[in-house]
Amino acid sequence: MICNVKLLVTGGAGFIGSNFILHMVRKYPRYRIINADALTYAGNLANLRFVEHCPNYRFVRADIVNHAAMEPLFAEGLDAVVNFAAETHVDRSILQPDLFVRTNVLGTQTLLELAKKYKVGKYVQISTDEVYGTLGDTGYFNEESPLRPNSPYSASKAGADLLVRAYHETYGLDVNITRCSNNYGPYQFPEKLIPLMIRNALADQLLPVYGDGLHVRDWLYVEDHCEAVDLVLHRGKAGEVYNIGGNNERRNIEVVKTILAELGKPESLIRFVKDRPGHDRRYAIDATKIRRDLGWKPQYDFETGIRKTIRWYLDHQDWMNQVVSGEYLKYYEEQY
Ligand code: NAD
Repeated sequence: MICNVKLLVTGGAGFIGSNFILHMVRKYPRYRIINADALTYAGNLANLRFVEHCPNYRFVRADIVNHAAMEPLFAEGLDAVVNFAAETHVDRSILQPDLFVRTNVLGTQTLLELAKKYKVGKYVQISTDEVYGTLGDTGYFNEESPLRPNSPYSASKAGADLLVRAYHETYGLDVNITRCSNNYGPYQFPEKLIPLMIRNALADQLLPVYGDGLHVRDWLYVEDHCEAVDLVLHRGKAGEVYNIGGNNERRNIEVVKTILAELGKPESLIRFVKDRPGHDRRYAIDATKIRRDLGWKPQYDFETGIRKTIRWYLDHQDWMNQVVSGEYLKYYEEQY
């Protein structure tokens, strides 16, 4: 086993980042893992309470855009960086695109510049399938699909991806970009579809579904995503993009009905609401490359993953209540 690898994870207090840190701290006890997170409304240190006292883990509150705050971490000498830090909610990006450009584009550029200056061995950018735009009823996104982002969120993520590519082409930085489909699982902030619907159903509140509910997403259980990022970090070929997806296409309305059925709640709770502007109709990922080149294979089908996820939220209602207090509650009440 490789020892003493020093890994910086940014955005590690968010949904996927915290699942990734839990995965890495337990799997690689001899790595030194630093989590740098600004703790926006989406960051929650309670996600990390099982590892916070581990000797191979350290948390630093820092904004990735802030060069002066980030530089000391790089100056310690890092072997690798995995960047999860981002503004991630499409609806918020429609209201406040400047914040998305700041964090997602400028933040990424700050990390790349520091990675170049301090000769970091590997930089992994966590991107999204949303950079490819939307699909019709057929077809899949592969790594060669053109970037056609439709929301300020996806445009800012695509901008970041292009900078990552440029730092490889221009400066020879060893980078990878991963583009994953929709994740679900424990610790997801309840503004996203699955935890929002679970929370509302448990409280017998209406479940807001955009438009006709026929938008299709390709769902991946978060642990499968973490395993994929682990593989890319260790075995990704410099400069390559890897798509990650589980072949679990579901219409939003099907997902909502599955949750209601699992919780024994009536479909009369569903409320169709005005569609989101620029709402992508369908995403579907061709993950052949990561399966073939890195041997990745998801462990969870959607039925197993969604049951496990619902169980988790049922068992962690205190977590849910804590994260939806304060700033989020105000935002949610303004929307619905
Ligand atoms: P999230 O919103 O749950 O977490 C984002 C984290 O980034 C939070 O902890 C937040 O505090 C932190 N952060 C925000 N701005 C920051 C800044 N300026 N400096 C430092 N930290 C900052 O997001 P998530 O769903 O866990 O997504 C993580 C990454 O994965 C994102 O880059 C996202 O684009 C990508 N992604 C997400 C999905 C998904 O389904 N959730 C799918 C594909 C890709």
